[in-house]
Amino acid sequence: RYQSLGYNRVLEIHKEHLSPVVTAYFQKPLLLHQGHMEWLFDAEGSRYLDFFSGIVTVSVGHCHPKVNAVAQKQLGRLWHTSTVFFHPPMHEYAEKLAALLPEPLKVIFLVNSGSEANELAMLMARAHSNNIDIISFRGAYHGCSPYTLGLTNVGTYKMELPGGTGCQPTMCPDVFRGPWGGSHCRDSPVQTIRKCSCAPDCCQAKDQYIEQFKDTLSTSVAKSIAGFFAEPIQGVNGVVQYPKGFLKEAFELVRARGGVCIADEVQTGFGRLGSHFWGFQTHDVLPDIVTMAKGIGNGFPMAAVITTPEIAKSLAKCLQHFNTFGGNPMACAIGSAVLEVIKEENLQENSQEVGTYMLLKFAKLRDEFEIVGDVRGKGLMIGIEMVQDKISCRPLPREEVNQIHEDCKHMGLLVGRGSIFSQTFRIAPSMCITKPEVDFAVEVFRSALTQHMERRAK
Ligand code: PMP
Repeated sequence: RYQSLGYNRVLEIHKEHLSPVVTAYFQKPLLLHQGHMEWLFDAEGSRYLDFFSGIVTVSVGHCHPKVNAVAQKQLGRLWHTSTVFFHPPMHEYAEKLAALLPEPLKVIFLVNSGSEANELAMLMARAHSNNIDIISFRGAYHGCSPYTLGLTNVGTYKMELPGGTGCQPTMCPDVFRGPWGGSHCRDSPVQTIRKCSCAPDCCQAKDQYIEQFKDTLSTSVAKSIAGFFAEPIQGVNGVVQYPKGFLKEAFELVRARGGVCIADEVQTGFGRLGSHFWGFQTHDVLPDIVTMAKGIGNGFPMAAVITTPEIAKSLAKCLQHFNTFGGNPMACAIGSAVLEVIKEENLQENSQEVGTYMLLKFAKLRDEFEIVGDVRGKGLMIGIEMVQDKISCRPLPREEVNQIHEDCKHMGLLVGRGSIFSQTFRIAPSMCITKPEVDFAVEVFRSALTQHMERRAK
């Protein structure tokens, strides 16, 4: 354990020297000292089951032994060059990553964060199409940098500043909160029948949402557009899923206007969704550009943009595109180790099996508690949306959700938060999670909800 700083000193330093917008979860934020696989340990040695993996980032487990060993070896060899020199880790990694994507997505740009990857994708979309306008969903999160803030449509992150030129929001086809619902139509083993009166295989709701998308195309953007960004499942907005077939039709509409389609796989990629390695595959679409970060490095800062040779050439409109740390040897060695671990330990299959097991177990809580409005998701990306009651579906007030969140923490379970009113618990553990750990988490959650219902009844 670290000997240097006690809890109170950390609080003082945080207040004095860290930006006030860097906020933490919980009334008493956690001071973490160590991590091992799906577990975290705080300064006092208390153990927590990490069901949010550092915001969907620690893909194969905290301090995974193989990833650690590779990092240590690389640390002793070469930390840094820049892209003006070659080094084997970068080329080995580029080949491995490219092999995981379908043709013609074979050209890779290595960068350092999800925001940077999306900035670059925006630049490429515009340079390639010679158009400006880019569409993204309401509720989308694509980054907090000045350029990507135009695509991010979550009020929490918006500022009274000019920005986002040419970025247009469109209605999110949210099958739980959207006006037409359509929970039936989503790709999930858990079906709900609120709002949508159609048969399970019917996609009526999809057609309504597509009309809205067409409406955006005809009213809010130029005749020719640069592109369309979508997360295969929205993360920050509370694990929001779209009706089956929506993205396929939307992609066709975008391409008919000269735009390119960008899948933001920052949260959904690398096997987390279980059935497929990439989220876009679950929608049966082929994007023109794919962006990825977070789980790519199991927490090490790295990210990537992958596109077709033709779109990649669009950047040649300038003489050089440069990024000091993109393709750093440490990052590439770690990225390769992460890919190997996902394969060797069958972590995609684990996401599918344990994720489905978990989704069905959490779905039972929806039947047991009036305040659990929806349980949704795919693989190891699950959302539990809290409501005041199942008829109105109004979001449970933030203070109540905070209390449940705190209670889970006190019982040793860390989960995330999402949605506009922070009313959705987000669950996305490392992909090494086991069924007994899921059983523990579900029991903690059940107990926190039971305590909460007792408090409400008083
Ligand atoms: N895209 C998505 C879908 C994200 O969830 C995030 C981060 N929450 C980003 C992009 C931005 O990534 P970063 O924080 O690494 O810039």
